[in-house]
Amino acid sequence: MTSKKPDSLFPTRAVHAGEARRQPFDALTQPIAQTATYTFENTAELVAYMEGRIEREEYGRYGNPSVRTVEAKLAELEGVEDAVAFSSGMAAVTTTILALSKAGSHVVLFSDCYRRTRQFVTGFLARFGVEHTLVPPGDLDALQRAITDRTRLVVSEMPTNPYQTCLDLERLAAICKPTRAKTMIDATFATPINLRPAEYGIDLVVHSATKYLAGHNDVLAGAVAGSAALTGLVRDLRHVLGAVLDPHAAYLVQRGMKTLGLRVTQQNRTAQALAELLQEHPRVTQVWYPGLPSHPNHEIARRMMTGFGGVVTFELAADLETTGHFIDALRIPHIGPSLGGVESLVEQPALMSYFELSTEEREAVGIKNSLVRYAVGIEDEEDLLSDVRRALDTI
Ligand code: PLP
Repeated sequence: MTSKKPDSLFPTRAVHAGEARRQPFDALTQPIAQTATYTFENTAELVAYMEGRIEREEYGRYGNPSVRTVEAKLAELEGVEDAVAFSSGMAAVTTTILALSKAGSHVVLFSDCYRRTRQFVTGFLARFGVEHTLVPPGDLDALQRAITDRTRLVVSEMPTNPYQTCLDLERLAAICKPTRAKTMIDATFATPINLRPAEYGIDLVVHSATKYLAGHNDVLAGAVAGSAALTGLVRDLRHVLGAVLDPHAAYLVQRGMKTLGLRVTQQNRTAQALAELLQEHPRVTQVWYPGLPSHPNHEIARRMMTGFGGVVTFELAADLETTGHFIDALRIPHIGPSLGGVESLVEQPALMSYFELSTEEREAVGIKNSLVRYAVGIEDEEDLLSDVRRALDTI
């Protein structure tokens, strides 16, 4: 089977989409409107705005010009009608899920979804009478069985964290189409350079823009993209809940998005090389990267994606402490949560997201003490690989 080919359209869109050709003050880049509110020249202008005869800003919680640019850029990259930007990825996830659910409705999640998303649905929403079913990672048959006439939303990531499960999105969309369930894919790990879920019939695409979209580990942001009808519901709720991006943060996101094509292409390449190196190394017992033929979902990933992303997950032939020694021996990546930025980041999930669990409890949720998640940045590929080789030799 041939892989899907990268499309040069998307890096170009990432630079130019959503931006007016002429900017205030003849600036090339869009000036930041550092204001909390917007004024009307007179009552006639106010009435024209209220009647929808002119488009403009009104009040900072409803958006600002930089937010509009982020939204328009993402909508074009995802190939959908509209997008809504948020002050974090979790604000995008929670506002979207809230906008589409009510007491008595039902949400289906894959059990390997981001733990805060899972916590929101299984803990918080359950208090308000929204029911849920968790289905095993990647199991579309179980998903089909879980859908009831009350299911309004099916939520998954693609690829998932940390094992990078990839779903046949076409089949997922086909399963949900005859039902009342909308599909929402958190494509943070993929980015629209590698995967555009709407091409396969997915209704909503969510991003933690904190990661690849902004790409510099310096701003928190999120976004959801989809049809105008669905994103309109989400936008209305954002106006109420208030998790909008401030003008400076939105500027950083849209600036970061301009280099998305360059960064992700390089991160795809480096991660593939790192995964191949690790796979051959005697101290490494298993590697999960969708670009490796050994990954259980490699064929699906090849069919759906044009690149496999910048995160490589692997297990060492080592215990908790020795795995920590390997991480400490790395000289280039910083130890920290997150991924997708220009700086490489590495973490031992057992000591980060799963610290409070015992070894047995971690194993029960599929996290071994020797698991490592390496999120490549844009440093030179050979520098990163030699650093990993050298660190592996120290344990
Ligand atoms: N979705 C995924 C896949 C993530 O990895 C994260 C963050 O780690 C989030 C959502 C939440 O995003 P944020 O940290 O921007 O709120």
